[in-house]
Amino acid sequence: KALCNDFDFIQFIKFLDTVDSTNSEAKRIAMEEQVLEGLIVSSEQTKGKGRLGRQWESEKESGLWMSLLLRPKVKPEAASSITLVSAAAMAHAIEACTSLNVGIKWPNDLIVNGKKICGILTEMSAEINQLHYIVLGIGVNLGQMSFPVDIIDKATSLKKEGVEVSGKKILSAFLLAFSNFYSQYLEGDMSQIISYHLAHSVTVGKKVQIITPIETRNAYVLDINADGSLLVENELGENEVVFSGEVSVRGI
Ligand code: ADP
Repeated sequence: KALCNDFDFIQFIKFLDTVDSTNSEAKRIAMEEQVLEGLIVSSEQTKGKGRLGRQWESEKESGLWMSLLLRPKVKPEAASSITLVSAAAMAHAIEACTSLNVGIKWPNDLIVNGKKICGILTEMSAEINQLHYIVLGIGVNLGQMSFPVDIIDKATSLKKEGVEVSGKKILSAFLLAFSNFYSQYLEGDMSQIISYHLAHSVTVGKKVQIITPIETRNAYVLDINADGSLLVENELGENEVVFSGEVSVRGI
């Protein structure tokens, strides 16, 4: 049952001590319950996931590890821009709860003082012309004081940045911001969400590497388009559009 109109995308909240991955749990629930939408939060993930099969470090009680199971009535093509909706909402939530400046690395990472504090992994189940569900996984580093050596230079947490704030506080600020941006997204209006990204982008105006499963190319980022895609100038001086899908942007 809906908690209230603003949060009618949350019909259940499941809190877990441990899970393989909150995205995997959300997908299991999605397959069992054909219409349900809701939120899964876990103190720990034993197999936290990043994109392209990468690993997401999610130690016990060190962060806010969660997934939203959503069934928006949008076309499958519109589904991936939900990543931008949640990135804007979480950036807003962290800034509302702390005095930190949060940058957004298009399309899915939040950056504080040059390091990643939050990652987002969007997965979906769809057929041509029909979206079944979206699983929106969000990990926010809260209390870690150290990270594994391979990410020590690129990861940070709220505590490392000198801020002590509970996961509960970040979660409620996020849900408020998300419900606002999400209703705009459902109405097909991405304008405020894109403006928020442009104002917080650490990607626009930078030389980056565009990494796809097939190749790596250099490009200069010109803008974020109205549909959330990235406008870049390639090495031949031509303008090119990059869609979020499976692209990683490096070099920021
Ligand atoms: P990318 O940002 O490189 O496209 P992803 O969005 O898939 O990659 O995130 C996964 C990557 O994030 C991992 O390969 C690792 O480098 C880094 N990472 C893993 N766990 C954490 C964490 N808790 N905080 C910050 N960065 C992390």
